[in-house]
Amino acid sequence: TQFTDLGLAAPLLKALADEGYTTPTPIQAQAIPGVMAGRDLQGIAQTGTGKTAAFALPILHRLALTKKQPPRRGCRVLVLSPTRELATQIGESFKNYGKHIGVTVAVVFGGVKYGGQMKAMANGVDVLVATPGRLLDHLGEKTITLEGVETFVLDEADQMLDMGFILPIRRIVKFLPKQRQNLFFSATMPTEIGKLAGELLNPDPLKVSV
Ligand code: AMP
Repeated sequence: TQFTDLGLAAPLLKALADEGYTTPTPIQAQAIPGVMAGRDLQGIAQTGTGKTAAFALPILHRLALTKKQPPRRGCRVLVLSPTRELATQIGESFKNYGKHIGVTVAVVFGGVKYGGQMKAMANGVDVLVATPGRLLDHLGEKTITLEGVETFVLDEADQMLDMGFILPIRRIVKFLPKQRQNLFFSATMPTEIGKLAGELLNPDPLKVSV
């Protein structure tokens, strides 16, 4: 399989060609068609497998096909990430793969002032990548709304558990619309993470393990 066989929008194929990427990694080949079609995904994959593009590409494909203004202070896609470094990397990946479709991206994490993040979110963005604690603070202050979220990505779920983020995540999920697409990634599936996946995912998700 090549990226050109997956039915991705031309501006995404162009961005991939710019990077010199021609062949999807196994998780990309297995995940992209189903996620493009709107299915939920439970992915067991470590960093380095190409999992960021496995969710970013089909999400960007759907954004390109259904261009619209995100809600004020809101987003169409929410990605939760355990650390500011990972959140920043994921944000850069969305910007890079989405550079020919004009996607808007914001990254929100703790340890910095709120003002810049509030300004970045004021008109809404297509994709918000956030760490759980700071996002909950914004939700409490109503400086961010999740009511327009169409796709929710939970990345590195097992690392979230290790960092004590399971309760914050459950609180965040209460702010999401009930009807949404969910993409759930973890390197391992301990009982607690399997339980969380069962709560978040719609029935019969696509399951991919690499
Ligand atoms: P990730 O597992 O998402 O952290 O990605 C690991 C690295 O692989 C990143 O530097 C990506 O830019 C790169 N990468 C992702 N997909 C591909 C691909 N299909 N071909 C070559 N490199 C890739």
